[in-house]
Amino acid sequence: MALFAPKCDRCGNRTRNKEDDKPVCETCVEEMTLLVNASKEESRPCPRDGTNMAKEIAHMLVIDRCPDCGGVWLDGGELERLREGVQMEAIMATTRGLTSPLI
Ligand SMILES: [Zn+2]
Ligand SMILES: [Zn+2]
Repeated sequence: MALFAPKCDRCGNRTRNKEDDKPVCETCVEEMTLLVNASKEESRPCPRDGTNMAKEIAHMLVIDRCPDCGGVWLDGGELERLREGVQMEAIMATTRGLTSPLI
């Protein structure tokens, strides 16, 4: 009964991409590759309370988040890249809502 493309195991988006016989979309594959690479690095202690921070993915960037205080650590240059990503999303969201662009 596979009338539709299967859902990505990770984010639930429809995808025909497969990894290890499980449906996983390309975006998640990329993110997981990033996470696997990041998990090879040592986890950083939180500058505030010393708790080991967990690796997370945001906008295709690896960030460290403290599970204790919720603090986020970014490597040099990551903030700029994150900002670009956020701006791109904001622009996309704005342009999507426009019915008659004034440009
Ligand atoms: Zn996915
Ligand atoms: Zn902390």
